[in-house]
Amino acid sequence: MTVFTHPEFDNHEHLTFCCDPETGLRAIIAVHNTARGPALGGCRMFPYASDEEALRDVLRLSRGMTYKSALANLNLGGGKSVIIGDPREHKTEALLESMGRFLEQLGGLYIAAEDSGTSVADLRIMGRHTANVAGIRERPGFDGKPSNGDPSPATAWGTFVGLQAAVKHKLGRSDLEGLKVAIQGIGNVGYRLAQHLTEAGAKLWVYDIHQDQMDRAVAELGATPATAEEVLYLPVDVVAPCAMGAVLNDQSIARLQAPIVAGAANNQLASQAHDQVLWEHGVLYAPDFVINAGGIIDVYYERTGPDPDAVRKHVDTIAHTLQEIFERSDRDGQPTGQIADQLAEERFRPISR
Ligand code: NAD
Repeated sequence: MTVFTHPEFDNHEHLTFCCDPETGLRAIIAVHNTARGPALGGCRMFPYASDEEALRDVLRLSRGMTYKSALANLNLGGGKSVIIGDPREHKTEALLESMGRFLEQLGGLYIAAEDSGTSVADLRIMGRHTANVAGIRERPGFDGKPSNGDPSPATAWGTFVGLQAAVKHKLGRSDLEGLKVAIQGIGNVGYRLAQHLTEAGAKLWVYDIHQDQMDRAVAELGATPATAEEVLYLPVDVVAPCAMGAVLNDQSIARLQAPIVAGAANNQLASQAHDQVLWEHGVLYAPDFVINAGGIIDVYYERTGPDPDAVRKHVDTIAHTLQEIFERSDRDGQPTGQIADQLAEERFRPISR
């Protein structure tokens, strides 16, 4: 396995390989850049087929967090961790406690939050041995409702205001009355986004692999059910991917009819090059790591002290950041993802230590 010459290495500051034979823990903690502050990012548990696969995933995810936090103007760096194993088979209290001890050894350089395969309860178990876990405290949510630490409501709100900014830029309209939106994935974020859009008067088409999620959106929000095959290709104003990554590839972009893609899913582009393909296709793409930053903003404020108003105002800035990206994209004749990367790099390259 290569590390320093790995194609995804990108000058990571620290990489920690954690091994505890007693509990079966095998994990990698990646800290990409701490110029803006300690690295905060999710701890993912997944049955990776190989160490190489785990390394690649953690490096890509960790780098992404640097860009996301920098563009959200948070005093945070980028990092991520992965535990190698099936969460349903290999996750034990002892293993999670062991991960907590490894987090503690890093002395606050990296702070773990929940991610796929881990829950708030799991992070609390790690937290028995370290304060370097986040997204675990019960507190007033950004909308004033009680929250158990779940960042999804803030992510959904940020996606909503980001989608509004995209509509304003591309379609020149400030209201969403009658706007047609297709949402792929009506889960924690997608359903809440659908609620905000319905309240704003938009007309929705939805698809989820789980029928009960679809039924709920149809019954409660008056959404029209779509099929797996058609949801991305409907003649709507906006497509909002809110399920899994890599949905924007050569084949899907060629079939898109919507002039805007604005959704919460992470890693929507199959490859970096698809940013350019979307742009050439005339589609306005709201870069995923910009529009879905509401969650990291919410988690950040848990550490600085709960302040629902400040969280809401901060999440609202996602719209301004996107507006700036869209304008620079038009001005410089470059795709929005490239512009977002440049803007982020301007914010985290100078080492302020
Ligand atoms: P979730 O698991 O609650 O919801 C995802 C939904 O997508 C589920 O209802 C699932 O059934 C559905 N789904 C899965 N595969 C699908 C497919 N092929 N087609 C249609 N639907 C499918 O997850 P979430 O928390 O709502 O996150 C959604 C996306 O947003 C993920 O990509 C996640 O990484 C990203 N994201 C979430 C947050 C957050 O705060 N939760 C923050 C940033 C990014």
